[in-house]
Amino acid sequence: MRRLAAGSPTLPVLDAAVSVCRACPRLVSWREQVAVEKRRSFADQPYWGRPIPGWGDDHAAVLVVGLAPAAHGGNRTGRIFTGDRSGDWLFAALHRAGLAVQPTSTAADDGQRLVRTRMLAAVRCAPPANAPTPAERDTCAPWADAEVAMLLPHLRAAVALGAFAWQSLLGTLGRLGLEVPRPRPRFGHAAVVELGDLLVIGSFHPSQQNTFTGRLTEPMLDQVMDLAATRAGAGPTL
Ligand code: SF4
Repeated sequence: MRRLAAGSPTLPVLDAAVSVCRACPRLVSWREQVAVEKRRSFADQPYWGRPIPGWGDDHAAVLVVGLAPAAHGGNRTGRIFTGDRSGDWLFAALHRAGLAVQPTSTAADDGQRLVRTRMLAAVRCAPPANAPTPAERDTCAPWADAEVAMLLPHLRAAVALGAFAWQSLLGTLGRLGLEVPRPRPRFGHAAVVELGDLLVIGSFHPSQQNTFTGRLTEPMLDQVMDLAATRAGAGPTL
């Protein structure tokens, strides 16, 4: 799997390779079980039930990193943050910042398009209770390392949604040779780390746990996305 990830010459080849990965037995079992059992409200829909590749602009200036696909969101639609409540918040904010052409993302063929932006999950298969193990995080890291390596020449801002994504992203950037400070900077909402041309920005994850409780508000998410868009030189012209 490491060889496949590191040896993929382009993002489409990498996307195809990751789509058939079966390196984590627990996650393979869970993603496929969910895809067969389904949620009742989606019973008439086919589920993707496989790893979710990165998605968006191959020459992105902004990268958005999430934790892992939702069981009935990305694991159903096959596109990261598509078809779940976290995605509703995320895509609305991306649209307001000029980084997505539509404010919603409901299905892989819904016409949504990211503007100079790409997104990926630190762990590419839906985990039980949205909680991958450290071993699963480490097993999946070569996919992110390979993807970010290809994006890095154009990247100017990277938004980590939540502490898990923050740690994963800084780990990837360190392995790719960027001088990540030691000890690693602490995660927080709107925390920033300058790594040469790249600005890493932390954001609370737009999970219902955060949005329902008011821990993350729309203005707070807008603050982060506007910072990323400004850094990337991406304006609100779609
Ligand atoms: S989580 Fe990552 S490494 Fe594990 S099976 Fe899915 S794609 Fe492969």
